[in-house]
Amino acid sequence: MENRKPLPMTVCDRCDKDTSWFTMSWFNTDYICQSCNDQEELHPDFSFAKDVELAYVKIGNYNYPGVGYPGKDGRLSEEFKQALIEELGL
Ligand SMILES: [Zn+2]
Repeated sequence: MENRKPLPMTVCDRCDKDTSWFTMSWFNTDYICQSCNDQEELHPDFSFAKDVELAYVKIGNYNYPGVGYPGKDGRLSEEFKQALIEELGL
C-alpha cells in the first residue's frame, strides 16, 4: 500500500463546477459548493434532512450517510420520512 496524498478538492460533487469553498451536504456525503449549499437550504426537505442527521448524531451514529438528496425539484417520499420519524422519534 503506497501512501497517496489526497487530491485537492476543486470540483463540487453536485454540480461539477470548480470551486474553492466546500461544505458537506445535509442530505448525503457530497461536498458541495456555495451555490449548491444555498440551493439545498431552500429545499423543502432541508430541515427534515437536518433533523434526521442531528437525531442520529444524538444517538451516537456519526456515520449516517444522510437521507439522500432527492434533487432540486424532487422530494423525499412520505413513507420514507414517516419511517424515520418513527424510528428517531422526531
Ligand atoms: Zn455545486
